[in-house]
Amino acid sequence: MAREFPLEKTRNIGIMAHIDAGKTTTTERILFYTGRVHKIGEVHDGAATMDWMAQEQERGITITSAATTAHWKGHRINIIDTPGHVDFTVEVERSLRVLDGSVAVFSAKGGVEPQSETVWRQAEHYHVPRIAFINKMDTTGADFLNCVQMMKDRLQANAVAIQLPIGSEATFSGIIDLVTMKAEVYDDALGKEIEVVDIPDDMKDEAEEYHQIMLEAVCETDDELMMKYLDGEEISIDEIKAAIRNAVVSNKMFPVLCGSAYKNKGIQMLLDAVVDYMPSPLDIPPVAGVNPDTGEDDSRKADDKEPFSALAFKIMADPFVGKLAFFRIYSGTLQSGTYVFNSTKGKKERVGRILRMHANHREEVQEAYCGDIGAIVGLKDTTTGDTLCDEKHPIILEKMEFPEPVISVAVEPKTKADQEKMGIALARLAEEDPTFKVKTDAETGQTIISGMGELHLDIIVDRMAREFKVDCNVGKPQVAYRETIRKSVKQEGRFVRQSGGRGQYGDCWLELIPQEAGAGFEFENKVVGGAIPKEYIGSVE
Ligand code: GDP
Repeated sequence: MAREFPLEKTRNIGIMAHIDAGKTTTTERILFYTGRVHKIGEVHDGAATMDWMAQEQERGITITSAATTAHWKGHRINIIDTPGHVDFTVEVERSLRVLDGSVAVFSAKGGVEPQSETVWRQAEHYHVPRIAFINKMDTTGADFLNCVQMMKDRLQANAVAIQLPIGSEATFSGIIDLVTMKAEVYDDALGKEIEVVDIPDDMKDEAEEYHQIMLEAVCETDDELMMKYLDGEEISIDEIKAAIRNAVVSNKMFPVLCGSAYKNKGIQMLLDAVVDYMPSPLDIPPVAGVNPDTGEDDSRKADDKEPFSALAFKIMADPFVGKLAFFRIYSGTLQSGTYVFNSTKGKKERVGRILRMHANHREEVQEAYCGDIGAIVGLKDTTTGDTLCDEKHPIILEKMEFPEPVISVAVEPKTKADQEKMGIALARLAEEDPTFKVKTDAETGQTIISGMGELHLDIIVDRMAREFKVDCNVGKPQVAYRETIRKSVKQEGRFVRQSGGRGQYGDCWLELIPQEAGAGFEFENKVVGGAIPKEYIGSVE
């Protein structure tokens, strides 16, 4: 078998946005135009599409595929899901690691909002090349050039408009491409008919002005081009495109595009920009790691001929095939039915099947190549963040650091009979998410779940109900079990009863440790029954 798409025609991208900017709509339209979803929203008449919709609905928005493969003009575009919520630092980090570039979606009305700033900074931290898509150009208050300015002011980004909208709000009817100096106009409200035309007369001056601004900004990033520009030589479209691409890949420039995902406007031009300006796996530095045997630094070039190395970036419980391990291959190739070495766990694992997820179907493949993203069925011990590699050439790819959970709640099934089901659900969810922890409190028998924030745990509880059909009650843990509490009973003097080394304080029974004569008792956080008094929680030693 040979690879279907050369590596230079592969794009692994994410779509980043803060909630409500239009990430879902933009992604949906991208999948529509890349030909894999044949109908959008209200129109469904293909069996495959119906299936997909039903599944999507059934499984809910938080677990759409971790990666979806699409095709555009001879390129393979893998879209990696990036969580929109900034609470999930680990999920964000994990996804930013495996993608090579990203489309940052902003709302034309709000522009750069505090939340979009956070998302942008995260991408910056990982030096992710970005293009910006100013969405919702059809809404009241939409202002494209203001958004570009906001990117410069608030994000200190070298944002450069490479398009101009024709009209805005209700009159938004087309887009000028400042690189080719052509325009795309829409003959109907829903962007079904697209025509490529000359720039309308009344916008020629403005387009020329912004073409020059764009050209200068591009030349600023390329000395050779700057010389040509200063000498008054003609710079070809291909030269401009190549220079923009280099500038984007090296994070020197962020081209800004516009459109309305909802009205199907600008999405195809956005896809062209992904192909033209986003890096391929060949354009990014070799992935770095360490040799687990020697502890020495190691790295792998993006090449099919190099020894195999891949990162498992997401584990998902799938209702059809069980456990899915989403991977990104950094070097070498992967064959189904063979063994790989999980160097993080030090274990060999058998690759059952390899799947590529499309928007509305799954494709089983026998082999996956360097730069590919897909899912493996059959890995038993692999968890998120593990490296898979060739046993003879072991490597551990840069370890992802996971923060400790910051909040804990107690959960119990609403129906007692669901206890076991709840245990299974929690174990699965913990396997997927390294920042989510589950334990049973030895003293109270309560199941305590811990995570990165309230929303994180809310989503876990919601997923238990939705995916595992276990409804739970959530409450405060009876004990802040991490703390050791020591206080002199005498000092407190409020125990009402004591028997056999146990003391009762209000509703709470505690283990008592006798002290020297006269000093009374000390007690530890051995809660025997009841809830620990609030004033003791947090008296940490
Ligand atoms: P997400 O939270 O970023 O995934 O945003 P969604 O894609 O769910 O969009 C949020 C809301 O904005 C939805 O009601 C969309 O229908 C709407 N929306 C998305 N794109 C556009 C657009 O281009 N124009 C208009 N008018 N509404 C849009």
